[in-house]
Amino acid sequence: MLFCEQCGVHVRGSLQRCPLCQSPLSGQKEENAYPALPPAKKPLRLILRLAALATVVVAVTCCAINFSLPKTGWWSVFVLAGLASTWLVLGVTVRKRGSPMKAIVWQLVTISAVTFAWDLCTGFAGWSLDFVLPIFIPCAQLAAVIVALALSMRPAEYLFCLSVCILSGLIPLVLLLCGVVGVIYPSVICVGISLVALAGVLLFKGKELRDDAVRRMHL
Ligand SMILES: [Zn+2]
Repeated sequence: MLFCEQCGVHVRGSLQRCPLCQSPLSGQKEENAYPALPPAKKPLRLILRLAALATVVVAVTCCAINFSLPKTGWWSVFVLAGLASTWLVLGVTVRKRGSPMKAIVWQLVTISAVTFAWDLCTGFAGWSLDFVLPIFIPCAQLAAVIVALALSMRPAEYLFCLSVCILSGLIPLVLLLCGVVGVIYPSVICVGISLVALAGVLLFKGKELRDDAVRRMHL
């Protein structure tokens, strides 16, 4: 064991200097003074890998649909850009432990607005409402669920933003009913996913959602 003449203390391990007074230590160094820790289990890594796989599936599917329907414009570029930026935000926020939920909601809003504006300015072929919006909303919902699971969030931390993502999934329903949507399948699937997600949240987290709503109204 190492010894500090200055402080008169024994020091374990293989340090060069005393951790208290920084003077050189005398005596025998000890290797492996601390027990080896078993590697921590990493559910986060598995979840992120599954999410990455899901992203690839979405990206490939979008490109395939777009490739077979070239007349609808090259909207899949936006989907790819959106997925890439989602991962960027996810990466930054998971690392920084910031507020990834709000980031997801903001991204959903900005990407929808930007693609809609782009579609409108280029003669409104309708791809922003036909494809981008109904593909993005379930992606945002999935991202919200993944982040909530990966960061082991409490219901109060994720329920509000998750609800916003889920309820925005009903916007395509309004668009469908108004007859604005040209290719209906993506919107129908998006509304279906959103309704199932809504039922899931109400059934499993209904009480927490009510508590959260009450708290927000008091603020
Ligand atoms: Zn010392």
